[in-house]
Amino acid sequence: MLSLVEASGEIARDLGVKLHVVGGAVRDLLLGRPTLDLDLVVEGNAVEVVRRLAAGLDARLVVHSRFGTAKLYSEGWVLDVVTARREEYPRPGALPVVQPGNLTDDLFRRDFTINALAFKVEPGPLGELVDPHGGLKDLEARLIRVLHPGSFVDDATRILRAVRYEQRLEFCLEERTAELMRRDVAMLDTISADRLRRELELILREPYPEKVLWRLEDVGALSRLLTWGLDEGLEARFGLARQVGPSPTLYLCLLAYLQEPTWLERFIARLRFPAKTAQAMRDTLEVKKKLPLLARAERTSGIYRLLGGHSPTAILANALVGGSSQVQEKLRLYLDKLRYVKVSLKGSDLMEMGLAPGPRLGGLLDRLLAAKLDGEAPTRDDEAGLVREWLAELETS
Ligand code: ATP
Repeated sequence: MLSLVEASGEIARDLGVKLHVVGGAVRDLLLGRPTLDLDLVVEGNAVEVVRRLAAGLDARLVVHSRFGTAKLYSEGWVLDVVTARREEYPRPGALPVVQPGNLTDDLFRRDFTINALAFKVEPGPLGELVDPHGGLKDLEARLIRVLHPGSFVDDATRILRAVRYEQRLEFCLEERTAELMRRDVAMLDTISADRLRRELELILREPYPEKVLWRLEDVGALSRLLTWGLDEGLEARFGLARQVGPSPTLYLCLLAYLQEPTWLERFIARLRFPAKTAQAMRDTLEVKKKLPLLARAERTSGIYRLLGGHSPTAILANALVGGSSQVQEKLRLYLDKLRYVKVSLKGSDLMEMGLAPGPRLGGLLDRLLAAKLDGEAPTRDDEAGLVREWLAELETS
């Protein structure tokens, strides 16, 4: 990381532009926490700095010329370089109007004092702290503080961000910031579904998302995101997810687990989830409804028939928290094995054996899969034998 910063500094010197490390990396370095994302601000052409830097590196370059930003992705790190800018919010919740600016402007547009710190790179001395808003003092006092009283009105996603940092870093909301948050909580309604959903996803990528959710409920913000309240079993469910490797979608399924479909549909509509994620949440409730039938399913093909086509994440959510241990085993069997089982014969093979294309052929392939799942046709020859048998039966009936 340091060598990247130094190399960027040399390029900035050649180009005669000022360059600083800003944001999360400065905060985390001062806190002694690991950081893999580096944000740089250039007072001048950021894209040119990154292009030159990328020339000597094995990294993927993504340029947004219109915004004067560029990103470099490599294994284990991401470098985000922006042109210093000034932002003005035309109305609450709208995206800001952006103009070129200097470092002071760029730090003033940030969310909290602890994120409005910078390290000098060019001109040096390398690593000297720039702290116009008292961020270091707040880091030491472990406080989340907005830069001005209109901050949450400008951009209410900061309410969600404040609570996320508070819980992750085990900080407190500074008193006035907490007051402003309670005052402005309704401003979350000015935020687009896409931005709200992105913030929720960031919350679900935290080590303990339930802590953030509970705290949001505490400050009165959760009801702007979720269409229901949290339940006491949430910690236990999320804890089980962590044992298998969580993902935002798995957490969403576990969040939805106890809900009525109507509330879930309102949540899906409010945050405009992509089809796949929405389906995973719906399937969680569908699979849960089928658990009593699953308990009674004796044949492997019966398990497959009940679960086939449902989102694997929804099935995993149920395997973690639903039903008896026997039912959970069946869910696991489906996830680990059954969903991958395929018949060896294809439609074209069946046509060669004399079947016309159509629903009957589809029906036979399904029947063949069921036989294979139940261990009645382990090899391709066995499959062909069964099909011949069934065809003979069909002819005589
Ligand atoms: P994380 O550790 O969560 O990645 P980060 O501080 O790097 O933390 P990012 O979301 O990557 O967070 O944002 C980078 C920087 O951009 C932040 O440190 C903050 O200064 C600024 N920022 C991000 N979102 C906002 C916002 N909604 N309003 C103001 N500043 C923001």
